[in-house]
This record gives sequence, C-alpha cells and structure tokens, in this order.
Amino acid sequence: MPTYEFLCSQCGHEFTVVMSFSEYQAGKVACPKCNSGEVKQQMTTFISKTSRKS
Ligand SMILES: [Zn+2]
Repeated sequence: MPTYEFLCSQCGHEFTVVMSFSEYQAGKVACPKCNSGEVKQQMTTFISKTSRKS
C-alpha cells in the first residue's frame, strides 16, 4: 500500500499514513497527536517514485 506523508497545520506534527488509494480519496486523515483534520500532504515520497526514468 502507498505511504502518504502529512504535516499538521495545527501543531506542526509530521506523520506518515499507510492507506489504500480509496481511503486516501475519502480524505479522512487526522493528526495522531492533536486529532486535527487540518493536515497538508507532503509530496516528497510521491515525487521520488514518479520521477524515475524507465
Ligand atoms: Zn496536530
């Protein structure tokens, strides 16, 4: 399953979530520290995979 990195806008906590694409599309991600839904996705892992030359 893909891994998604998030940064919480409320407390600044960075965390990683492993979930299916359908769960990701549902957008139900909350900070595990403060339980806020105000999170931003970090694209670092995603870019390193897709920018690979074939
Ligand atoms: Zn938080």
